[in-house]
Amino acid sequence: MRPGAAGTGWRRAALGAVILLAALLPARAAEEPIEIFDAHLHYNWEPKPYYALDEVLALFKKNRVTGILATSRPNTGTHALVEAKAEGLWVVPFLRPYRVRPDIQTWFNDPAIFDLIEQEYRRGYYRGIGEFHLSGQAAASPWVKKTVDFAVKHDLYLHAHADDVAIDILMRHNPRARIIWAHTGFGLAPARVAEMLATYPQLWGELSYRSGITGEGGRLTPEWRDLFARYPDRFLLGSDTWIAERWASYGDIIAGYRGWLKQLPPETAAKIAHGNARRLFAGQ
Ligand SMILES: [Zn+2]
Repeated sequence: MRPGAAGTGWRRAALGAVILLAALLPARAAEEPIEIFDAHLHYNWEPKPYYALDEVLALFKKNRVTGILATSRPNTGTHALVEAKAEGLWVVPFLRPYRVRPDIQTWFNDPAIFDLIEQEYRRGYYRGIGEFHLSGQAAASPWVKKTVDFAVKHDLYLHAHADDVAIDILMRHNPRARIIWAHTGFGLAPARVAEMLATYPQLWGELSYRSGITGEGGRLTPEWRDLFARYPDRFLLGSDTWIAERWASYGDIIAGYRGWLKQLPPETAAKIAHGNARRLFAGQ
């Protein structure tokens, strides 16, 4: 044995370990994408869901979706998700005020829907009411006011697919309302979104179908980068699986969010991806 051979071997082994570690680290980071809370999920059940329960649970796991704001039409799908008690999935059930699709057009003037809300609420696990649709003055109906008051009384959030006029009316019905704004007004100018968030501290924007967040090459636009910097605590992500096509592209939708989340400071990205939901629904 030559003098020093053992030392060289040791150095070589150490160097090998460093190279191995360097090779493993990025791989591990790639395996653990940022966890996502999906704050706009419909598990519709009319008469059968697009994916069976075990398939949908596998889909969440595959995409590292660790929490969902669960709704369905009728509420059967939400019951199934709650009752599944799936490991690694936090289900935040919202009561949907719809029995069938046409209810979207009429629920705000329909006393039978308010009965549905009161009855369904007795299940005891709901954290909100929605998603429901309102445009402009439709929000001014007495049945909508009753729904908002019911939500405030029972400490429930509202999940509103609404224009800014309807949001104003909802907040006027009861200034203690807490509203998750589905789609954050779709194409509403970012300056107007900022104005709404400043006016209503209990308004949170959910970002499915929201246009203008990214531009060329998937880069965040300056307007939205600025909004996220100013209001990091006020945004949530959602898939809006309202039709089969959205389920079929679920992985792409979630990957699309991760594409722009990584352009934000990690702390802001973590809030939007899951932290804000945890704060709202678990008080953490
Ligand atoms: Zn929806």
